[in-house]
Amino acid sequence: RQHLAVAVEDVGGTQAQHDAVAELIRAFTVSADKLRAIQTHFISEMEKGLKHHGQTVAMIPSFVEGRLTGQEKGTFLALDLGGTNLRVVQVELLGAGEFTTKSTKYKVSEELKTTDAKNLFNFIADSIDSFLAEHGLDAAEEAIPLGFTFSFPVYQSKINRGTLKSWTKGFSCPGLVGKDPVVMLQDALAKKHVPVFVTALVNDTVGTLLSHAYRNPDTMAGIILGTGTNGAYIENMKNIEKWDGGSTTSNEMIINMEFGAFDNERRALPLTMFDNKLDRESINPHEQIFEKMIAGMYLGEIVRNTLLHLIDRELLFSSNSSKELNEMWSLETTYMSAIEADADPQLESTKNILEQTLSIPSTTLTDRRIVKKVCELVGTRAARLASAAIGGIIAHRDALETGCACGIDGSLYEFYPNFETRMYAALKELFGEGVEKKIRLGLAKDGSGVGAALVACVAAKMFKSLPV
Ligand code: BGC
Ligand code: MG
Repeated sequence: RQHLAVAVEDVGGTQAQHDAVAELIRAFTVSADKLRAIQTHFISEMEKGLKHHGQTVAMIPSFVEGRLTGQEKGTFLALDLGGTNLRVVQVELLGAGEFTTKSTKYKVSEELKTTDAKNLFNFIADSIDSFLAEHGLDAAEEAIPLGFTFSFPVYQSKINRGTLKSWTKGFSCPGLVGKDPVVMLQDALAKKHVPVFVTALVNDTVGTLLSHAYRNPDTMAGIILGTGTNGAYIENMKNIEKWDGGSTTSNEMIINMEFGAFDNERRALPLTMFDNKLDRESINPHEQIFEKMIAGMYLGEIVRNTLLHLIDRELLFSSNSSKELNEMWSLETTYMSAIEADADPQLESTKNILEQTLSIPSTTLTDRRIVKKVCELVGTRAARLASAAIGGIIAHRDALETGCACGIDGSLYEFYPNFETRMYAALKELFGEGVEKKIRLGLAKDGSGVGAALVACVAAKMFKSLPV
């Protein structure tokens, strides 16, 4: 009944290695019962967050009301600051759910992630400026409206206003927590005379929901499974008991859940010593506990911790490690993807990653099988936990019978082998056979960028102050 991608028998090796793998399987497996318990706790945390301010699962009203018609039209600029890249996107909404995009990616350096926020916003303003020049948009007479996708927890106070609650995903720029990222951006733009006006501030999950909804009108949720993880969904206004944001024109609003913080209290999640080590060594200990078990920024590090533990017990790589493997974050989640995809009987790609990229002096086939199993365990657990969250949203909204679509963006969902299959397997344990016909997971590619353009469009409609 449990969805186990891994059986201990196929590792081979010594009895001690066999026993160690069996132990890891126990530690990392989320049983169907456990999955249900997590889903139940998730629902109660969601409901708490809807009632009161300042809860662990923040359940932040996005100020994006109602649904799209798919008929939205016009050209909008979007800015997408994610966990890894900054993208400037020009989106042309063609109506009928169709759009085209032109975009440029700019890499956010490690330094920009940790030094004064002013540097980050100057960099963003420069990037927008060069994008406009590249596309011949810099001579605009009127300020160009821009939707800003900011993939961090923001307490929203208007469609284009909010304050940063905390940094996540390895960002820690001093000078922004408690402040409005739109004001910072607008100031940086003004100083450089860039003719852009920020009309909307959106979380990437909200953008993903909207971009998926543009093509699939029955979209209920937008999920990010990338560097970080989080979800947004459409809620009835009357369920948002804590709402104090004034009158609304619609009876629905999109909620940015900030579910990466789910169970920071560690009541339901099956944390292992490898998760605890990661959390303790991270720049935000005790925060984003759920995210740290699911998201791409962290999975490789959990695997690394697990391998080091096996080395220390003299059960792996003949007790050898390497300078690289001993370095935090050196085992990237993309390596896990490649190892999981390695179908060669000798596990040649795995050998390459371990011996070339990570400089382990030598590996046996058993070593490589063990490494592959650890990746499978950590990857499978992440997919199942993501499904517990989606299952929580579906159950809370009672959306199983009517059916709905979930737009998902992020490298984990897009590229990690079998991630979606494992998610469906877990959803089946929660909701039974045929679940894939009722809950339709789908890739919302470029969701956050296109979504920001859609919000800029929705905002224009809401304010009725800009041409649509
Ligand atoms: C942030 C969320 C974001 C998610 C996915 C998390 O770390 O708190 O706001 O939606 O990452 O990018
Ligand atoms: Mg993104």
